[in-house]
Amino acid sequence: MVKENLTEIRARIKDACLKSGRNTEDVRLIAVSKTKPAEMIREAFEAGQTEFGENKVQEMCAKEEELRDLPITWHLIGHLQKNKVRKAVSVAAMIHSVDTVELAEEIQKEALRINKVQDILLEVNVAAEESKFGFRPEEVAGAAKAISQLPNVRLCGLMTVAPYTENPAENSVYFAELRKLAVDIQSENKDNISVCCLSMGMSNDFEYAIAEGATMVRVGSLIFGERHYEK
Ligand SMILES: *Cc1c(COP(=O)(O)O)cnc(C)c1O
Repeated sequence: MVKENLTEIRARIKDACLKSGRNTEDVRLIAVSKTKPAEMIREAFEAGQTEFGENKVQEMCAKEEELRDLPITWHLIGHLQKNKVRKAVSVAAMIHSVDTVELAEEIQKEALRINKVQDILLEVNVAAEESKFGFRPEEVAGAAKAISQLPNVRLCGLMTVAPYTENPAENSVYFAELRKLAVDIQSENKDNISVCCLSMGMSNDFEYAIAEGATMVRVGSLIFGERHYEK
């Protein structure tokens, strides 16, 4: 099923790109494999998928170990605690969920220690939801400026998790706002800051995110099926 699902999602991404006059190559699919077994990741890899997203450091590292024979690119998309930065930096090609300057400073320390430059995105709580992590929109420019001083941290762009909604079209405004924020920061461009990557859109709203400029969409359940959490 994973293979068929991927084919379908890729077709939908292509379609959404066509409709908004964008190049298909400008939108990367991150397959969100959290809670799903390594075997399913292997299946997706065999169907041509190389980039995977996990929201827990522990789980990402365990799967990385199990699948080390495959050239997989790992993305950490969930909240990162300071005490897990070392492990996260050792595996993640990109950390999407940097939500404080202090966390970026911790990433700097660990990246320097292993002589790596860590790609990151700043998570923005665009809809100002109480339950969500992320910078408030008005904090992002200042944070980007501070983080751009860290030599082992490469700020690549912004990420958001839009609210859950029955009507995904409603999320277009949040995607547009994230894009505008990136464009504003980019146009100032005082400190060589580059925030071209926009990680936004999930299973129920990725086409709306693409229409608003997403360069990475994070799709889980449409590829791997619904997740079943232990109660
Ligand atoms: C789980 C998760 C996704 C994927 O969600 P689906 O609705 O299953 O596509 C995307 N981004 C983040 C941050 C997630 O935690």
